[in-house]
This record gives sequence, C-alpha cells and structure tokens, in this order.
Amino acid sequence: MDDCIFCKIVRNEIPNTVVYEDDDVKAFLDITQVTPGHTLLVPKKHVADIFEYDADLAATVFSRIPKIAKAIKASNPAIQGMNICNNNGAVAYQSVFHSHIHLIPRYTADDSFA
Ligand code: 5GP
Ligand code: ZN
Repeated sequence: MDDCIFCKIVRNEIPNTVVYEDDDVKAFLDITQVTPGHTLLVPKKHVADIFEYDADLAATVFSRIPKIAKAIKASNPAIQGMNICNNNGAVAYQSVFHSHIHLIPRYTADDSFA
C-alpha cells in the first residue's frame, strides 16, 4: 500500500522508533504517547482491520504481544500495568486503516487514559 502510513513505517520510509521487529511484525512508539512507552504493534502485511485477518495472521500478530509487553514493562520499573486494545472501523475510533494493537503502559496514579 503506497500511501499507507504504517506500511511506510514498516518500510522505514518515515521516521519511527522501533520497539520490536521480526520478519512478520513491527512494533514502534505511537507518535502521540497516551502514556510514556505507548507502542503500536502491526503486521508487516497490510490488512485494514481484524475483519481481514485469518487464523494464521492472528496467531502471528497476537502471539507477539506477551514478548513485546514484557519488553516494554522491563524498560521502565515505574510501569505497573498495561492496557492492550485494538480498534476496528471508524465507528470504533480506528483512525489508521492498517491494523494495529495499542500497548499502553500504566503507571501508579496516572490518570491520562481511562
Ligand atoms: P487508532 O485510532 O487507529 O486506533 O490509532 C492510530 C494511532 O496511530 C494513534 O494513536 C496515532 O497517534 C498513531 N499514529 C498516527 N500517525 C502516526 C505516525 O505517523 N507515526 C506513529 N508512530 N504513530 C502514528
Ligand atoms: Zn499499510
């Protein structure tokens, strides 16, 4: 997808801060940090949303979550928890139509994201 911003990030055509990468997925810091360390996990293959996943792609993407979540948590001892979420469709507040999973670290007494 030539004009997809996350495909451009996968191809390193625009600046990004990599958190994790392998042959099939990439995780990078969200440009708008809801909390410090807010990370997006994407399949390298362009799919718009969860409705375009098959079981293999789901296994590929979702199986990476624990490893990435633990790496984020290990990067900052102040992280006490994490919200992990995935918006599908404009009605569900998806704004970038290359499927992605938000990993949002939570800190004691942070109140920036309910
Ligand atoms: P959504 O609303 O689709 O669930 O989340 C899209 C996310 O992509 C938002 O949190 C937004 O800040 C992030 N985002 C949009 N454009 C860019 C970009 O160019 N680089 C990065 N790293 N994140 C982006
Ligand atoms: Zn894309």
